[in-house]
Amino acid sequence: MTLPAQTIQAAVDAAHASCKAVAGGANASYIPYLAKVPSSLFGVAVVTADGALYQAGDADAPFAIESISKVFTLALATELVGPDAIRLKIGVSPTGLPFNSVMALELHNGKPLSPLVNAGAIATASLVPGDDADACWARILDVQSRFAGRKIELSEEVNTSEQTTNFHNRAIGWLLCSAGACYSDPMRAVDVYTRQCSTLVTATDLATMGATLAAGGMNPRSKERVIAESNVSHILAEMTMEGLYTGSGEWAYTVGLPGKSGVGGGILAVAPGKLAIAAFSPPLDSAGNSVRGAAAVAHVAKSLQLNLYAAPRR
Ligand code: GLU
Repeated sequence: MTLPAQTIQAAVDAAHASCKAVAGGANASYIPYLAKVPSSLFGVAVVTADGALYQAGDADAPFAIESISKVFTLALATELVGPDAIRLKIGVSPTGLPFNSVMALELHNGKPLSPLVNAGAIATASLVPGDDADACWARILDVQSRFAGRKIELSEEVNTSEQTTNFHNRAIGWLLCSAGACYSDPMRAVDVYTRQCSTLVTATDLATMGATLAAGGMNPRSKERVIAESNVSHILAEMTMEGLYTGSGEWAYTVGLPGKSGVGGGILAVAPGKLAIAAFSPPLDSAGNSVRGAAAVAHVAKSLQLNLYAAPRR
């Protein structure tokens, strides 16, 4: 059943209007760049599986993609090595621990368990082939661009801010290496992973990237096939289990859609076969999810009755 255009625009407008007042949270500050982003920016966007775009507020404001990039590098690596290799080499289960947890590695013999936590994402980046970091990075940037349907660019400012402060992630890289769970030079993998977090996207881009998953791997705006349809369900399953950090279970319980957030304040949810909802607002809760962004995405999902676990309306 196709949702009428006015219904979707009304849901996006209502979510933006009512969540504007949602307060609380704070910008991430462990990456210096993120602390300086204006906290009042707030945008919402929806892109449907047939390519229609709906926006409210600062939907075209650029921000750092951060952890949401993990979804697209996972998509690329799944295309390159196949879903079974992802399961065996990285793991596909929730960790139940924060995104940059070292304890999660210690508890599982150095295996990351999920491609959507930092350790698993660094291991995923290490699976992308290339003669050097630049070649590997070019493939990742290309896949982000194809998902978005436009040329995505690295922010030198974000990248420098991260590369000069990412000591914790470098430690994770070496731990992966010592456990045999890093598949390239570990510092190359961390370098590439850090670059993938440092691109600038908008809520509109994120909604388009999500709509590519909603449409079975074909970008509904550019009409380009980005990944095989058979790989999409694996990626959405990972987003369900680990996409909102330690808030993933609560998100599945209350919203019922695969999602992914980033410490830059972006958040994305995918209703398979239908649409994707994205929002941007920098202040984060203690788990690392955008407070206002999560509220807005949940608001749209609820008003359009998109919960995957609810019986369809008869
Ligand atoms: N670049 C960030 C990090 O590695 C991304 C974290 C996130 O968005 O969860 O810490």
